[in-house]
Amino acid sequence: MQHVIVIGSGIGGLEVGCLLAQQGYAVTVLEQNIRPGGCLQSFVRNGLHFETGCHFVGGLKRWTPIWKLFRQLGLNHLSWKSVKEHEIYIGDNCYHLPCGARQAQAYLTKCFPHQKEAIKTYMQTLRTIAHCPLDQTTPYWQQNAWEWLSQTITDERLRDVLSAMSIIIDMDRQRLPLFEYAEVMYGFITSTKRVQGGGEEIITHLCQRLKRYNGELRCGCEVSRIIDANGRVTGVELTNGERIEADIVISDIQPAATMRLLDDNSSMRPVYKRRITNLPSMPGCFTVNIQLREPLRTDRRQGPIYVHRAGTTIWNDTDKRVNHILIYTYPNQSAIDILTPMDWQEVEAWCEHPMGQRGDEYDQLKKKKAKQCIDLALTAIPELQEQIVQTWSSTPLTWQHYLRSEKGSAYGTYKDCRSIATTLITPRTPLEGLYLTGQSLVLHGIVGTTMSAGFTINQLAISN
Ligand SMILES: Cc1cc2nc3c(=O)[nH]c(=O)nc-3n(C[C@H](O)[C@H](O)[C@H](O)COP(=O)(O)OP(=O)(O)OC[C@H]3O[C@@H](n4cnc5c(N)ncnc54)[C@H](O)[C@@H]3O)c2cc1C
Repeated sequence: MQHVIVIGSGIGGLEVGCLLAQQGYAVTVLEQNIRPGGCLQSFVRNGLHFETGCHFVGGLKRWTPIWKLFRQLGLNHLSWKSVKEHEIYIGDNCYHLPCGARQAQAYLTKCFPHQKEAIKTYMQTLRTIAHCPLDQTTPYWQQNAWEWLSQTITDERLRDVLSAMSIIIDMDRQRLPLFEYAEVMYGFITSTKRVQGGGEEIITHLCQRLKRYNGELRCGCEVSRIIDANGRVTGVELTNGERIEADIVISDIQPAATMRLLDDNSSMRPVYKRRITNLPSMPGCFTVNIQLREPLRTDRRQGPIYVHRAGTTIWNDTDKRVNHILIYTYPNQSAIDILTPMDWQEVEAWCEHPMGQRGDEYDQLKKKKAKQCIDLALTAIPELQEQIVQTWSSTPLTWQHYLRSEKGSAYGTYKDCRSIATTLITPRTPLEGLYLTGQSLVLHGIVGTTMSAGFTINQLAISN
């Protein structure tokens, strides 16, 4: 029986671990933290459960390839709840975009009747791309999302509406590939869900499944070295000096961090190692977790709420103010989260300081940013101000501290339509027996990371 080591117990690592254990491999998942789950961990403050990286999941429609993969993992039986709409604020205008392709198309056509044909083309193209087998998507990776969007949709406001939900992706006019934009947008437009038990429900399920198929999860085990000999991987070493032998090592941590685990004299091709190590990371996230006096009125507030400041641009916004936020409301408790992208440069000055010892200036930055988030959120939730009991916030440094994510990146590495061959990462590496998985591979997010897991499993089946 072949022994597989998976480095990292994020959703990607656990999914790959489960799928291989189901196929009869002897699997050990190694996690440096004391708890599994990576980005999907939740935490408790004043008795309230807050999510970290699992708010909404787009694209989980029945019978899609991703749904079939979810079924293979038993994830389709979790307590998924569909949300009805996306609430989008652009300045003073508010749009209630319903979930469901037909409903969304009808709503957009009603709001922008002069763009009827363009909306039809938009939806058809997204659908074609989303249904394209992963190995045939190259042209869409090479196509530029902004160019396609601006050619297809001529009305500037409609373009904003169709970009408003994408604050979680890389809104760069030059860089963003059409494939990434289309997958995320089509997923959210056709079906958006939340899992009632949050990220913890997903992770608990995967851990139990791994165990059921005789897989092993070891927490508190940080891998410090990937060992290879004669051109193939032979195992890993932990920070405590323990060595574990393996036939196959799969890394769920960021690809650059994986390369740093290889010895200088490893047989990994230097040119590959250099390319992967130099891939830039996507921005991090600033999150404000807010305790409220009472739950928000939940008439329509089950879905994502996006707020964009009037007069700002969604694409290539270099303004350091908080101009774009995503609000997540908790249906069963008096709390909300506000998320906004945050660059590493804003916090880099404190990256060498231990947690809790970053000083007043850092605390002031967090306070200022949290206030800007809350002020912008008032556009959508005017009653928020009087409702706030307490707030907590986190920056990219928090992610770097807990998950060792590169530069506190929330979503892994960038994909660049101008150089897709160098930015798109395949699961197989030039070092025999070493594979990659996780959000940096195909796409980020729960669905994107699951796609990567499927991609890694397929590649392994072909190579073995
Ligand atoms: C703020 C935020 C909000 C998000 N919201 C959503 C959302 O609403 N919907 C959605 O679909 N997606 C969301 N995402 C994205 C989603 O959470 C991630 O794409 C996904 O969870 C990434 O999973 P992963 O397995 O690739 O990596 P990770 O979750 O990062 O897992 C990597 C694991 O490896 C461990 N590790 C690192 N180094 C080592 C080492 N040397 N040895 C052993 N273990 C190691 C880490 O501790 C971690 O547990 C969000 C992300 C963030 C940051």
